[in-house]
Amino acid sequence: PLVLGIETSCDETGIGIVRGRTLLSNTIASSMDEHARYGGVVPEVAARAHLEALQPTIEAALAEAGVALDELDAIAVTSGPGLAGALMVGVGAAKALAVSLGKPLYAVNHLVGHIAADLLAGDEVEYPTVALLVSGGHTSLLLVRDLVSDVELLGETMDDAAGEAFDKIARILGLPYPGGPQIDRAAATGDPTAIRFPRGLSRASDMAEHRYDFSFSGLKTAVARWVEQAEAAGGDVSIGDVAASFREAVVDVLVTKALDACARHDVPRLLLGGGVIANRRLREVALARAEAAGVAVRIPPLSLCTDNGAMIAALAAQLIMSGRRPSTLAFGADSTLPVTQIQIAEQPPA
Ligand code: ATP
Ligand code: MG
Ligand code: FE
Repeated sequence: PLVLGIETSCDETGIGIVRGRTLLSNTIASSMDEHARYGGVVPEVAARAHLEALQPTIEAALAEAGVALDELDAIAVTSGPGLAGALMVGVGAAKALAVSLGKPLYAVNHLVGHIAADLLAGDEVEYPTVALLVSGGHTSLLLVRDLVSDVELLGETMDDAAGEAFDKIARILGLPYPGGPQIDRAAATGDPTAIRFPRGLSRASDMAEHRYDFSFSGLKTAVARWVEQAEAAGGDVSIGDVAASFREAVVDVLVTKALDACARHDVPRLLLGGGVIANRRLREVALARAEAAGVAVRIPPLSLCTDNGAMIAALAAQLIMSGRRPSTLAFGADSTLPVTQIQIAEQPPA
């Protein structure tokens, strides 16, 4: 099926067009620059930016794919989770488009969309797989037994998301937003073993008791305190060492938990997704430790890892191919949509 996907859960207005598992276009307008001076995504700013960007981004995606609106088989949209105001813009646009064109509409889960992104990467995809999704808004460890029917949440962050932690530490170090790439760059000049920062909730007992939840606020406090004390002592704070040591702590926790989950559930596959996957050290450590553990790692191209509309279209195409009926119009933006809800408001059987 030929599907147009609309994604507006955070600061990217993403419009993607796919035919089954074939990517035809993946067009993105980001309001990231507008948030930079606030040091993080401002929901109202994001929602307004989506309103402005939607129409031109849809037109650009159609042009790039060489597709006309009336050729589409379906419209897909992210219903949640994400920023309520931002989601609402995409949901409204998708309903209007579907109704005016008389096309079926599929409302889907953003996190499961991140997993579906891998379908567009090309080669054969196998389930079950463990999936680690790390971005500015989420840090989730999932067990995917079947993309369209069985996704289980193994753990998620109890405070900051991994990308958010990068952004906050960058701010402490006086580096601009977004912090991830800045920390990555600074870390290249530092020693990752210089400072031993805490690895939250990553002892074996934590993993048993807390499932696979994550916590990065203790790490953030530890870094802030270390920098404060170093400055108070009048010493030179090596930004490189702090960045490298911080990055090492985050990477260690993420990879340790993901591989522990693979072992515990006897799943020799790990899928990585989300904007933090851009982190070179994370990919390096994940690949090395996974190989040692006999786990195959999949990392889609970065343009499919960050928020985009193509992954939403890909998930809907998969739902259609599995015989799912379209969604009714009785759904809205759900900022806390659980990952187990893969499609929202599927029509009852006729
Ligand atoms: P969502 O949470 O809805 O997926 P988002 O916009 O918050 O959306 P992404 O756009 O996927 O997330 O990713 C942005 C985040 O990734 C930011 O927090 C940014 O700092 C982080 N990031 C980007 N590059 C790197 C990197 N090289 N290392 C670590 N973090 C990075
Ligand atoms: Mg973003
Ligand atoms: Fe996302």
